[in-house]
Amino acid sequence: MNVLWAPWRMAYVQNTRKAARCIFCAKIRERRDATNLVLHRGTHGFVIMNLFPYNSGHLMVAPYAHVDSLESLPPESALELITLTNLSLRVLRAEIGPEGFNLGINLGRVSGAGIEAHVHLHIVPRWNGDTNFMPLFAETRVIPEHLLATYRKLRARFRMVLAHRPATRAKPAVGPRTQAGQASRKGRTGTTTRRSKPGL
Ligand SMILES: [Zn+2]
Repeated sequence: MNVLWAPWRMAYVQNTRKAARCIFCAKIRERRDATNLVLHRGTHGFVIMNLFPYNSGHLMVAPYAHVDSLESLPPESALELITLTNLSLRVLRAEIGPEGFNLGINLGRVSGAGIEAHVHLHIVPRWNGDTNFMPLFAETRVIPEHLLATYRKLRARFRMVLAHRPATRAKPAVGPRTQAGQASRKGRTGTTTRRSKPGL
């Protein structure tokens, strides 16, 4: 894999090492989503743009819970990280058409985690040749405007995708202990599973 050159991230690395507070918890508490580049709030977690992106459309998915590792999350919260990741992938594909993605979670400072106390998953869109292209954006003053334009586009696309999500999304998951209608639903192969995972 070619490594993206993103010199503006140096400011980020220096800032986060000084910061005593958790920026994920702070930003989600503030309720200024446009300012904080929060794209979507889910039930257990949220999607936010990276202020110091490795590439255009670099998003992060994080739980509301301030925990430092995946295994500390309750199952429903861990599952929603994946659901929100899928939603984000769908939005990014539709809006900015990447040719691929890097997805990843860094656990612990030694792994490269900038904010090690609050687990988060990175979604970095990739295009052929982007390792050559991105240095053009290396002027730090260009980045915020670029980010804001991307934020507006992605936010609109999140709303569009969510508006077209299957209506069964809000219903309780049909689990193995559900009694009424269980046999008839199970009779239709795969229907039960799809109802609780609406193909994000
Ligand atoms: Zn936190």
